[in-house]
Amino acid sequence: MVGLKGFLFHQLARAVAEDPEVLHDWHADPQSAVTYLETWQAARTAPTLMSEAEAEASVPPMPVTTGSSIHRTGLGFNPLNLSSEAFYPKAQHELAVPPRARFTVVINNRDKLKLTQDHAGAPLPAPKMERIWNFIETDPRGYLTSLAYHNPNSDPLPQTDEGNIYDCGAWSYKAEPYPILKKRNGPLTPEGTMKLFEEAGAREGRDIIVSPDMMILDGLDSPQVAREKIEISYQFARAMKPLAGAHRLMAVTHGSFEQRHEMMEHYLDLGYRHIALGSLALKSSRDPYFVYRCVEDALQYRAQVPDLYIHVLGVSSIKWAATLTHLGVDSFDGSSMYMSAFTAGSFLQYVPEDPNLLKKYRIVENVPGSDELPPCHCPACSAMRAEGWDTRAQGGTLRDPSGRPYNGGNEANMGRAVHNINMYLRALQDVQARILAGDESLLVKRDRYEAARERRDNLERPMERLLN
Ligand SMILES: [Zn+2]
Repeated sequence: MVGLKGFLFHQLARAVAEDPEVLHDWHADPQSAVTYLETWQAARTAPTLMSEAEAEASVPPMPVTTGSSIHRTGLGFNPLNLSSEAFYPKAQHELAVPPRARFTVVINNRDKLKLTQDHAGAPLPAPKMERIWNFIETDPRGYLTSLAYHNPNSDPLPQTDEGNIYDCGAWSYKAEPYPILKKRNGPLTPEGTMKLFEEAGAREGRDIIVSPDMMILDGLDSPQVAREKIEISYQFARAMKPLAGAHRLMAVTHGSFEQRHEMMEHYLDLGYRHIALGSLALKSSRDPYFVYRCVEDALQYRAQVPDLYIHVLGVSSIKWAATLTHLGVDSFDGSSMYMSAFTAGSFLQYVPEDPNLLKKYRIVENVPGSDELPPCHCPACSAMRAEGWDTRAQGGTLRDPSGRPYNGGNEANMGRAVHNINMYLRALQDVQARILAGDESLLVKRDRYEAARERRDNLERPMERLLN
């Protein structure tokens, strides 16, 4: 196998070799393997710690460190030997007032970090499973979680003043003919969904719950299938409304510009005042002008219906955060910073001078104690380091022929995922403060989105042809 497909196959084989258990998951849910590869593919463009480009761009090689500290490449990402504080600075700009657009951190209550000692370093009588939100350094303005990943028997999400968002995880059942929680519960019913939201701790009047919806898959769903999916979303929207009581109930639009327009009208007629724009995550990089127009259209409705609340699902890059803050949507979310820590070993660095504010490194496997990136002092990295885990090491199997101790298990990966949330929140504070202060240097304007659309139409898409 050659070319891109061979590349994907290779990654699939690699994932199985590293974690044979994953085959059980993929057998139960073949779509999850596709999702895994899509996420991996999307994150693959990140620079790796040992990429040729970085080698060429770096200052003259420094001597390879010997001894217990490992400096594997001598490339020197930290050639000036910056301290952790200088390498991972705090957010540079203060927010005088919170912007209208709030970011909700995508999280689930299953993910935990194992602690074996207390804050003073004394061993605990038994290991403690600490919820990952305890390692987020600033209080987010809300969390978003999906019933598909929520464990009702575990701790509820932290309560937030502006409210959390509970959705059904349409992505997890996107290949199914109806909304279904596959791992348990089975097909969703309006009554059953309401019960699950209440069990999850969704508070009336504050938290937002999402009526079960169906994603429309671009280029895969025939017009007839798309129509059926819209009708299913409508059926749920109608049935959920009387059941929701004082809950803030949100409906989701999907599909083409016209289909979204129609869905918005329909939901407004049903009395909805919370609308989420769905299936835009992949579009946000492939067709940003489409996303821009969909957001603009939704905001035109809000101009006529002032109590309308607009959420953008799964669009959160720093550039998009600038745009969404500027346009004034009510909220947006994203999990790529979290997920890519597992799927691509991404380690984010907050760089105030960088036009993207975030620099992404791909941590190569089994590099414990790499001194190419200084140790980070965010709560996640600090706690894991105290436990002997290095968030700069990638999980997997021991491969290092030199026999260095392996130090890249799940704890390191999950710690890095939370680290990425911390770095994202620093960058987010910066970008939002700058947008509010009228600094448009980070802002992508409408005409640039439009120009990008034209370029895209004119360009051949060899990658997409290969994949299709
Ligand atoms: Zn960190």
